[in-house]
Amino acid sequence: MQTVWLHSLSAVSRRGKLFLFATVTTAVIAATIAGVNLASSGLPSPLDNAIPVISLLDKNPYAEYYYYEADKQERYEAYQNAHAELSADEVVWQVNAGLDREFYTEIMPVIDPSVLPVIVNKYHQLSADYVPADLVKLPSGKLATRDTCQAYQQMAADARKAGLSLYAASAYRSYDLQNRLYNGYVKQEHGDTARVDTYSARPGHSEHQTGRAIDLCGSYGSLNDFVNTPEGPWVKENCYRYGFIVRYQEDIVPLTGYKYEPWHITYVGKDVAQTMHEKNINCLEEYVVKYIDHQPLADV
Ligand SMILES: [Zn+2]
Repeated sequence: MQTVWLHSLSAVSRRGKLFLFATVTTAVIAATIAGVNLASSGLPSPLDNAIPVISLLDKNPYAEYYYYEADKQERYEAYQNAHAELSADEVVWQVNAGLDREFYTEIMPVIDPSVLPVIVNKYHQLSADYVPADLVKLPSGKLATRDTCQAYQQMAADARKAGLSLYAASAYRSYDLQNRLYNGYVKQEHGDTARVDTYSARPGHSEHQTGRAIDLCGSYGSLNDFVNTPEGPWVKENCYRYGFIVRYQEDIVPLTGYKYEPWHITYVGKDVAQTMHEKNINCLEEYVVKYIDHQPLADV
């Protein structure tokens, strides 16, 4: 119990911490002694009053994470109230990543899409005129940035050695093409944008515009079947070795706002992909909060 107090008091100055600790310890000892006497008399024990004091000190579980941001305390609490199932860790990084807001609200521009890893999601938008400077052709003829293309070719070659065949069905898409695609889907769904938003990005919000996202087909030749081909599990297991991540995983659908897309891989660079793999992080936004916006003390 004492360890917990000290942890939760990490935001308090050393002097304040010692003072509070001493005060509470004294109160609890006094209450304990008094409680023994009063219990036999049948009166309520002062220990009943001591418990709220302890819980007051112990009520900030978010502050123990190195990526805690004090100015977001109210948002942590509101988000936790709305999502009782989340751990304190999840609450903190998800709020820090801005995932507590409605999709497509408070949209921010992507400052420099050439710096890896790039966050393009329902809150971060690329400008309409952004085109990557170094687009080259993948073997399928689709365009991707040079680093993405090199990594993909290495991965495809190793997949071939394992008797597998990868095909890049889609890679770079311009803002205009994404605009046409999205609006085409909206028409097809009779104006149901909420439904379209689960599988297609609004213009400027597609990772494909960065030139670093690829949609893969396997031996059966369609995106939806990819997960059922031998290539699907192979890519999921091995793509990090080449600097790719499967961006829209099954267990983070509420966070990404997209249904599970086992075929959509994103080039984030080998270091990022390796760390995400080692730390069991499968959401790029979580990586950015824990390793870019903040850094763990041990790794500094
Ligand atoms: Zn895609």
